[in-house]
Amino acid sequence: MRNVGEIDPPQRLLMGPGPINAHPRVLRAMSADLLGQFDPEMTTYMNEVMGLYRPIFGTENPWTFLVDGTARAGIEAALISLASPGDTVLVVNFGRFGLLLSEIFKRIGAHVETVDAPWGEVVPLDAIAAAIERVGPKVVATPHGDTSTTMAQPLEGLGVLCREAGALLYVDTTATLGGMEVAADRWGADIVTAGLQKCLAGPSGSAPITVSARAADHIQRRKHVEQGLRTGDHDDGDGIIIGSNYFDLGMIMDYWSDKRLNHHTEATTMLYGARECARIVLEEGLATRFARHTASGRAMSAGLRAMGLRLFGDDRYRMTNVTAAYIPEGVDGEAVRRRMREDFEIEIGTAFGPLAGKVWRFGAMGYNARKHKILITLGALEAVLRAEGHRSSAGCAVDAALDAWNGI
Ligand SMILES: *Cc1c(COP(=O)(O)O)cnc(C)c1O
Repeated sequence: MRNVGEIDPPQRLLMGPGPINAHPRVLRAMSADLLGQFDPEMTTYMNEVMGLYRPIFGTENPWTFLVDGTARAGIEAALISLASPGDTVLVVNFGRFGLLLSEIFKRIGAHVETVDAPWGEVVPLDAIAAAIERVGPKVVATPHGDTSTTMAQPLEGLGVLCREAGALLYVDTTATLGGMEVAADRWGADIVTAGLQKCLAGPSGSAPITVSARAADHIQRRKHVEQGLRTGDHDDGDGIIIGSNYFDLGMIMDYWSDKRLNHHTEATTMLYGARECARIVLEEGLATRFARHTASGRAMSAGLRAMGLRLFGDDRYRMTNVTAAYIPEGVDGEAVRRRMREDFEIEIGTAFGPLAGKVWRFGAMGYNARKHKILITLGALEAVLRAEGHRSSAGCAVDAALDAWNGI
């Protein structure tokens, strides 16, 4: 039962795999009044957003902007603008989000090949190299961090392999951007996309994206300007038309360019939010921010282990911002989540697919990757687990997490 006189809506601590609590500054920025999408102040904000996201993506790509919609909007825009029906594509698949990339490519009508790792592992680079050689893909697509398995795929050297094979490389960094290093240029990635609701500490609904010159050329060849906007000076590309109007990156890029060609009505409130997320990241500094997420992951892991929980997945490739732990035998995973929510106002994550009902996922991302929030979560979990029949010595998780946070 909820407490009498409880505030509405409840103030919950979101310690799952995302969404997480938005930074209060982001929420404040989003309460500003609307501007027209071609208002010079708005287009100034748009140019500013492009500049703010370049260092966050680790890129010098001029084409760095936002796709309106959740992270999946960025993914769909990238994949449908890169791949044409009938193209062979290769997906690096080590969890739910690799499966999602395959599914989107199939809907596009591409011929999908995969190179797979079991959930909890990553795909070795030489296996990807062999698959590229065998398959001859036009596009290689991979998640960076896959929150479903908590694994981060190493990406050093993948861009070179793709370039040598004439393939374009797409990377989904939704779960890692602003929390773990994303190095679009050094990786040699052609399109990288993300969302706000994980380490960037915003609400879902805007998808930052960066597009290399090579990918931009490819897209321009496929661009077809919408009928009602055409004037005498629009040249269509001679490539196969992109199979979506909303997600035609060529048209979205025309809107973000000096041409300011009309496309969708920019989600200006989301743009304020995305801009504030990026400003906060850069004010903190990328290195400091990554270190904070590393300390968080270390503390969360240490606390969970101290309670006798077994962590899921290969330690070497664990994401710093989300950790999965097996539900101990005899403990009702959903009862634990319910008590966490009802008694402590803390949300922790369930799992998908083969891990459903087997693990919980604990996030410590963005605004929530803080010492006190991790300690509060672990302290609450300890009490809840005791109530649900899992014994551990009182205080052990918090003590272990504090030591790990402090690097002891
Ligand atoms: C969370 C997550 C998404 C989420 O996509 P939405 O459309 O914002 O729900 C996509 N990709 C990865 C790797 C994620 O972890």
